[in-house]
Amino acid sequence: RIISGESSGSAEDQTELSLRPRTLSQYIGQEKIKQEVAVYIKAAKKREEPLDHVLLYGPPGLGKTTLAGVIANEMAVNFKTTSGPAIEKPGDLVALLNELQPGDILFIDEIHRLPKNVEEILYSAMEDFYIDIVVGQDATAHPVHFPLPPFTLVGATTRAGLLSAPLRARFGIVEHMNYYTKDELTEVVLRSAAVFNTKIDPLGAQEIARRSRGTPRVSNRLLKRVRDFAQVAQKDSIDKEIVDYALRLLQVDEHGLDETDRKMLETMIELYDGGPVGLATIAANIGEETDTVADMIEPYLMQIGFIKRTARGRMVTRAAYSHLGIEPNNQKNY
Ligand code: ATP
Repeated sequence: RIISGESSGSAEDQTELSLRPRTLSQYIGQEKIKQEVAVYIKAAKKREEPLDHVLLYGPPGLGKTTLAGVIANEMAVNFKTTSGPAIEKPGDLVALLNELQPGDILFIDEIHRLPKNVEEILYSAMEDFYIDIVVGQDATAHPVHFPLPPFTLVGATTRAGLLSAPLRARFGIVEHMNYYTKDELTEVVLRSAAVFNTKIDPLGAQEIARRSRGTPRVSNRLLKRVRDFAQVAQKDSIDKEIVDYALRLLQVDEHGLDETDRKMLETMIELYDGGPVGLATIAANIGEETDTVADMIEPYLMQIGFIKRTARGRMVTRAAYSHLGIEPNNQKNY
């Protein structure tokens, strides 16, 4: 999905690296988080201590990895990145922790996917900077106490509730990343276009921003696609006309919804009269994983008021009916 907030890991997404802001002042939006983090960084630097552990949560593509990198840069420490699924056994984590210098930042993306036995080692590592591991097997097995340099763990996850309570409790700083406003995303598009050396009209940038689901990764991806269309059409600047044209072909509508979003809303309307219906049922009907619907599709539909959550399940709202051009059932209270 072109409008997915998730990184595809493709070579194309590698160009994202050149787009990443390096300092808090270059980092667009998330004003409340930036203000708070700036204070914590200043205080930690004054005390000459590492920053407290940070948990960032929110939908994919909102800039959690970027923010973690910015924090490392502002603290002037090394930045090591890994992810929950990449750490398969305790030894993998020990190897990573062993490489850290005092004050370094270890970033673990998808931290909710750490195996349980790895997560348990993190508790003492985070709290008291040591780990106890058992080395050897059977008769030669013996515990080893392993002191660590003080470090900062930055964890990222889509929903804070996915973390176990003991792990969550060990983060001193917990920040919820919000969707970006249209104006903030316009700034992201203008900045990225400048990095790409591509000319873009303000109205073209605003249109890409409007259709980016509040997500900078989507803005950058749409910008790259539209740039191709502009180049082939021999436009010397990306204008609103070429954005409309390209995004119509890519089936990204004026709210940034694609086929999957529309399929979900239409299924809820056609099979369940607009709901209420449970998430797992919706997911099964549209052939997606429940987690994908929960993390990638539903949050944005909820944010723009197309779906609401009730005690008995999800319901489509009147705004969504009107967007899809479907007549609502007037007997129902959407
Ligand atoms: P995931 O968890 O799926 O990896 P993420 O939330 O960590 O996603 P990033 O990889 O940090 O997202 O950001 C995605 C892209 O959006 C990057 O190319 C980055 O340059 C851009 N971006 C993110 N946040 C900002 C921002 N505040 N200002 C400018 N560009 C941003």
